[in-house]
Amino acid sequence: LTVADAAPITAKKTLPDAQTVTAVKHWTDKLFSFRVTRPASLRFRSGEFVMIGLLGDNGKPLLRAYSIASPNWDEELEFYSIKVQDGPLTSKLQHIQPGDQIILRPKPVGTLVLDALLPGKRLWFLATGTGIAPFASLMRDPETYERYEQVVMMHTCRTADELNYGRELVENLKHDPLLGELYGEDFANRLLYYPTTTREDTPLMGRITDNLTSGKVFEDLGLPPISTETDRAMVCGSLAFNIDVKAVLEGFGLKEGANSDPKEFVVEKAFVGDGV
Ligand code: FAD
Repeated sequence: LTVADAAPITAKKTLPDAQTVTAVKHWTDKLFSFRVTRPASLRFRSGEFVMIGLLGDNGKPLLRAYSIASPNWDEELEFYSIKVQDGPLTSKLQHIQPGDQIILRPKPVGTLVLDALLPGKRLWFLATGTGIAPFASLMRDPETYERYEQVVMMHTCRTADELNYGRELVENLKHDPLLGELYGEDFANRLLYYPTTTREDTPLMGRITDNLTSGKVFEDLGLPPISTETDRAMVCGSLAFNIDVKAVLEGFGLKEGANSDPKEFVVEKAFVGDGV
């Protein structure tokens, strides 16, 4: 038997870890969300991230970290993405259509999980830009409301239209049949939403750090100031934002925790670099 006699191995090139896009929605010229099929074997904790991407021009996977924006009970996976003009991945990813395939490595990780926090009364989600993605997952997970009496979603973007993904999500949640069944009309008081802009005039403005340190957010929402007794927080934004918020939370006496060492707040980068 010679090599020539052996059956030729013509392995068909298929996308490794392929998932199919089921829906795409463009929110602004810089932001879009999309949904893909979920691998049957993928288990994750709401708030975690995975590596997703496309095949690069060199035939190798071009992958980036993405927070899963859907809750862990959802049969599909949702992502909320920036469009970076010259970004190696998002310059291409922004053109995906239903039926297309993306690569998804089914290894979820991350620090923005409920298990990384000590029990408390009120949970603060503090995000800028696409940093709302992990909280889009956690806000839709009933476990969040099992563990905390109240959730406060503070989201800051430059302009009003950049808030729309989060705004629509919160509106829909307030009318969600499952959460409504579980918590009744009272649910509106359990999920508080505090959207602010920094560049465009809107009813609520200003940076998250400023609205926390000035006490404006507590006044506006009728809440007591953050305290170590009752409050826990999760932070997701640019590196600069995360550093500033961390200092503010530490000013309130909260300490940073991790999966292996739950404390009063946890932080994760929404991206690497200065942001666009
Ligand atoms: P890159 O070469 O990766 O980035 C180019 C430039 O764009 C860099 O200067 C970078 O600072 C800036 N940039 C990248 N991402 C963002 C962003 N989201 N907002 C503002 N500026 C940005 N991105 C998402 O859009 N959604 C997510 O849910 C998400 N989750 C992430 C989770 C983690 C833990 C990390 C580390 C990053 C996450 N990112 C997320 C960023 C993502 O991994 C990529 O950087 C992004 O998709 C752009 O890829 P790119 O190849 O086009 O450009």
